[in-house]
Amino acid sequence: MWLVIFGLLLIAVTLLRNIRHVPVLSMEIPSQGRTICDLAGNPVVILAPQIVGTPEEHFVRLHEFVHVRQLSDNCGRAMSRFQYDKSFRISQELEAYCAELAERVKYGMNADLLMHNIRLIFDRIYEADTTKINCGGDNGNPIAPP
Ligand SMILES: [Zn+2]
Repeated sequence: MWLVIFGLLLIAVTLLRNIRHVPVLSMEIPSQGRTICDLAGNPVVILAPQIVGTPEEHFVRLHEFVHVRQLSDNCGRAMSRFQYDKSFRISQELEAYCAELAERVKYGMNADLLMHNIRLIFDRIYEADTTKINCGGDNGNPIAPP
């Protein structure tokens, strides 16, 4: 029993430490945030300098750290699938955008307006079928497209 509890604690501490040690850099990029793999195959978050220190940084960090979790198992493999597999890319981005939406709603922003903007982004950038872009219910969990 105690061994199981100790094991779970060890796993929790390891996961927390891994997330905390992801480097966050600031440099000019075409978007507000981006997550890439470093040469050693670990995720690195890049934030656009213009959002650092603004309220927007919190939401962009939250979005990018969903990608960090998505990439944490095998950064290179997940990133390459992200680039060539359109429906995988849409599902990964939807998870990140929906987590961001849920957080923005907590700060009093309008969920319907946010969802409208997300559908616009998925239409223009990810060429997704926007009728399938949905963050689900109150908890903001995405409904993955088929
Ligand atoms: Zn993203």
